[in-house]
Amino acid sequence: MSRHRNVRGYNYDEDFEDDDMFGQSVEDDYCISPATAAQFIYSRQDSRQTRQVETLEEAEYEEEEEMPTSPTITHTLDPLEQDRLYSCLDQMRAVLGDSIPDSTLTRAALKYDYNPHRALDFILTEENTNAHTPPARTNPQPEPTTAPAPHKAKEQDAPESRVEAEVVPKVARMTVSGKKQTMGFDVRSAEENGVVATSVRRGPSPEVLATPTMETPSKPAVVSEDGTVPTPLRSAGKSKQQLNIRAELKKRQGGKPLLNLVVIGHVDAGKSTLMGHVLYLLGNVNKRTMHKYEQEAKKAGKASFAYAWVLDETGEERDRGVTMDVGMTKFETDSTVITLMDAPGHKDFIPNMITGAAQADVALLVVDASRGEFEAGFEAGGQTREHGLLVRSLGVTQLAVAVNKMDQVNWQQERFQEIVSKLGHFLKQTGFKDSDVFYIPTSGLSGENLTTRSKVPDLTAWYTGPCLLEQMDAFKPPQRSVEKPFRLCVSDVFKDQGSGFCVTGKIEAGFIQTGDKALVMPPNETCTVKGITLHDEALDWAAAGDHVSLTVTGMDIIKINVGCMFCDPKEPIRACTRFRARILLFNIEVPVTQGFPVLLHYQTVSEPATIRKLVSILHKSSGEILKKKPKCLSKGQNAVVEIQTQRPVALELYKDYKELGRFMLRYVGSTIAAGVVTEIKE
Ligand code: GDP
Repeated sequence: MSRHRNVRGYNYDEDFEDDDMFGQSVEDDYCISPATAAQFIYSRQDSRQTRQVETLEEAEYEEEEEMPTSPTITHTLDPLEQDRLYSCLDQMRAVLGDSIPDSTLTRAALKYDYNPHRALDFILTEENTNAHTPPARTNPQPEPTTAPAPHKAKEQDAPESRVEAEVVPKVARMTVSGKKQTMGFDVRSAEENGVVATSVRRGPSPEVLATPTMETPSKPAVVSEDGTVPTPLRSAGKSKQQLNIRAELKKRQGGKPLLNLVVIGHVDAGKSTLMGHVLYLLGNVNKRTMHKYEQEAKKAGKASFAYAWVLDETGEERDRGVTMDVGMTKFETDSTVITLMDAPGHKDFIPNMITGAAQADVALLVVDASRGEFEAGFEAGGQTREHGLLVRSLGVTQLAVAVNKMDQVNWQQERFQEIVSKLGHFLKQTGFKDSDVFYIPTSGLSGENLTTRSKVPDLTAWYTGPCLLEQMDAFKPPQRSVEKPFRLCVSDVFKDQGSGFCVTGKIEAGFIQTGDKALVMPPNETCTVKGITLHDEALDWAAAGDHVSLTVTGMDIIKINVGCMFCDPKEPIRACTRFRARILLFNIEVPVTQGFPVLLHYQTVSEPATIRKLVSILHKSSGEILKKKPKCLSKGQNAVVEIQTQRPVALELYKDYKELGRFMLRYVGSTIAAGVVTEIKE
């Protein structure tokens, strides 16, 4: 079980200057209607939705792809021929090493019907007669001026060189978030090339099979229908093994997908007790440890907190009897491996809760069924509503509601129904679909209806539905953006025993392998990833959706903070202090004017910022501009604003990365708005 302080060093004072304002962000009558908040409320489950909102750049890429390109010879290769080709290439490489580009080898192999001797002969004679060998991968940045335009190359080239033109990797200028800055390879998917990528064999690299698109923007490798993501090779001679990431992901954890679950709800609703008990029943906590917790809890005069102690590990949490940090632990259901994040319910720790929710795929809302307690959590000042609204605004669509402490109300059906109807009404307005919200009556303390269906007659008399674990098992794991460039947002930094140090965080997009270089933004420093740990297990790679620890070297720990973004150096994230966003204002007391101070919550970042400009007020559903340069913004309005942060923040546009393009704004302890990044200014 691991536990990370997600907001280490965070200054709570900044967030809670005014005690009187705590928890007033969501009032009784306020909700976002699903129609009005469509932009802020996307579905992490629906990957197609992500694809629908294509970026301008992506659309351009697509056009590029559709442009008629002459089919490569490999299109026609059946699996047997591919094997012969790989075998021939292996033998040729054994003689030639990596001195000759793969493309040239492939060409020769194809020409001489995969006969390695004849192909070698050909290569060696050609080497002698032809002094000029294409530089290919040895020179990753050829002079753009000397590179021929693709159409011209096609017209002029002889058939043989055309084959080469089709297979030689060409360097394309890459546009990252609209900014030309990096060079890299344009890689076609294996499917496009009619070749099934293999993670074991060393066959022609994806580059070899790529059709060059000179002077065209490169884009992340496309995932083919079989889920293959060809990994661009990094450097000649030292190419890493190509990783068929989707296939590897399927194989991992016994084929069980990973799901990140955040547990939310009002303080004392019983979240820690409930999850602690679930972990105990699943065998994740052994009897001896549990006994120890029970004894310790008794000694401390808090016997009823024994299960909560499974999760509330820090002394301070135990003393105060509240969860402060986002605890993280792992357990398995029949079909899923769940990373559990136990978010603090106390209003003082909403920022921690935002951090947890920003990294979650699905949520479990725990409400206290006791008379008066549910109401206290649900009404103004309670966290039930605020948490519900926050997780929805942060992209969570599937929600299980544990109507907890049902033992306190004798498992009464009427009480359960009363809570379901009150919550149901609110959650629907918040943007949850009825069909994605599931209510389960539970008792975290007695363990009823947690991992097995309850046999309590008072409950079975009217409830025949699933137990909590069955419901968690039924969650649909979201589609991960493994095909996009690597992004990881740092949630903790700590010193390692070895030479480097460790960072933890959730991989939001792409994947990483040990030995990879990563760029850290905003400090704009490069480092090398020496080790990857997932749930305390060392791995060679990890992909989008995984909560990992990375051991990194080559950079000073001083430069890394919580909130830094690790990214692919070839396709970096941009850091800025000024950006435009579309925001939806919650139930705010004070109108937002120019210069309004806020705290920007973005992934694990909490950064002081100001509303620098009020650009326009938009119509809630049509998005049409109602007023330009308004003087102020009031509750419930949808607006475009410019936000200025004190220090640079690494951000993504919402249209590029749904997971990374959203944020929350808080003001003196209240969440005042949810927003999406639309333009990065500087
Ligand atoms: P959290 O703040 O939401 O994590 O709540 P805790 O798990 O710390 O629980 C708060 C209190 O409620 C503790 O005294 C628990 O023993 C008690 N509690 C939790 N679940 C139940 C339950 O199902 N029934 C009863 N009667 N008490 C519970």
